[in-house]
Amino acid sequence: MNIKNYINGEFVNPIKNQWIDNYNPSIGEVYGQIPNSTEEDIEKAYQAANEAFPSWSKTTLDERSSILSKIAQLIKEKLDVLAEAESKDNGKPLSLAKAVDIPRASSNFQFFANAITQFASEAHESVGFNAINLTLRQPIGVVGCISPWNLPLYLFTWKIAPAIAAGNCVVAKPSEVTPMTAFLLGEICNEAGLPKGVLNIVHGLGNSAGQAIIAHPKIKAISFTGGTNTGAHIARTAAPMFKKLSLELGGKNPNIIFADCDYDKMLSTTIKSSFANQGQICLCGSRIFVEESIFEKFKEDFVKKVSELKVGIPFDSETNVGALVSKQHLEKVKSYINIAEEEGGVILFGGERVSVNGAENGYYLQPTIIQVDSNKCKLNQEEIFGPVVTIMSFKTQEEALTLANDVSYGLSATLWTNNLNRTMQMSQELQAGIVWVNTWLMRDLRTPFGGTKASGVGREGGFEALRFFTEPKNICIQY
Ligand code: NDP
Repeated sequence: MNIKNYINGEFVNPIKNQWIDNYNPSIGEVYGQIPNSTEEDIEKAYQAANEAFPSWSKTTLDERSSILSKIAQLIKEKLDVLAEAESKDNGKPLSLAKAVDIPRASSNFQFFANAITQFASEAHESVGFNAINLTLRQPIGVVGCISPWNLPLYLFTWKIAPAIAAGNCVVAKPSEVTPMTAFLLGEICNEAGLPKGVLNIVHGLGNSAGQAIIAHPKIKAISFTGGTNTGAHIARTAAPMFKKLSLELGGKNPNIIFADCDYDKMLSTTIKSSFANQGQICLCGSRIFVEESIFEKFKEDFVKKVSELKVGIPFDSETNVGALVSKQHLEKVKSYINIAEEEGGVILFGGERVSVNGAENGYYLQPTIIQVDSNKCKLNQEEIFGPVVTIMSFKTQEEALTLANDVSYGLSATLWTNNLNRTMQMSQELQAGIVWVNTWLMRDLRTPFGGTKASGVGREGGFEALRFFTEPKNICIQY
């Protein structure tokens, strides 16, 4: 199936008529083609967005809100089609796409449909000066949204929804590895009555189509989710043009387990926080630190539970772990497993490719647990972004905190304890944008979302996103 760019409300071929193969990772075969867009396509998308902006930025909040709600509704109605497309494109279990990815994409639109009607600006009375300051929150203009392949529609819409709710027009690029649901979103936007040009979706490679978005002198803000190196490159490119930047980058998140936790809940949640979506979630807890007194028990129980996970075809309802997203990514993840031994690690479970019946060329890998004895190794310092976790024991709260923070990333941390003082002390000191205590991946869309250190700059979510996608302008009136 060939997919097309969505520009000015129409589905069009790339100007240079160049195409890229799109793979189904669960069988390792090409199943379609996507535009290999160039600077010319981005310019065309920019022009469409720029023309739509004056009128879209003046639509009433009710009007914007009802179109966004309609998009949310249509995503819900098309759950099955979208989930199947996501699973085929990405390799994730269909059950996960149905339960998480697609419902969340719908919630993203519904959330910002509601939020924009509640977003208030500020007024400051300058007492004694007979003056009042009124701060407007105006849309920025044409903005760029670039997203990765791991949660394709979920993260794509997490940027687009607040951008258009705030009155901007968008040039967006999904990952070239998982373009299908972004393509289907274009059809949904037309059906919902989104005016043409408000959202433009251009497919293609990061270093050509993506690069043309970040380097475009008139695209005034970039909301990006992806790897830390790409984020650094975007910052270098965009900074001299003074673009607004929101960068949601990689993670190497600690999962810290104290002996006083609710053990069963911790164990079942740790299976998810380690291997959900084949470990390809930026928030996965890939470094597991366990208090010494329960380390041996945890090791035994964890290995047993992980050995029961079923690696298989994403469409099979029994599957827990699907395929990795691409051959290239599978090789990258495998290269970390290959260095385990020289790093002093011991593979407690997994480590091998899995040949799945009827899908022998798919990119399957066993969920893998590696015991390490130091936090300094590459396995504990670099983002692997696959079904690989390390485990290590600690003796004291101080040691756990040091290990958790001893990494360049600072996205999220998970803490398992029933001690209130420890909860508060650790939460204060952990270098992360998000701390989950006795839970994982529980998201309230009103809360700020983002990372510290090499995990990014800025926050998404709630009013933070609407602040990012608007420019404050203060008007001072003396009377
Ligand atoms: P990449 O950084 O490789 O790519 C992300 C997006 O940027 C893709 O659409 C990519 O296009 C595009 N891109 C690549 N180069 C450029 C460029 N020069 N200019 C503009 N755009 C470019 O990340 P991955 O897709 O591999 O995603 C995995 C990463 O994303 C992991 O590090 C993960 O931690 C992070 N992530 C962070 C999250 C967070 O919220 N903090 C959430 C989810 C993932 P193309 O695919 O065509 O190369």
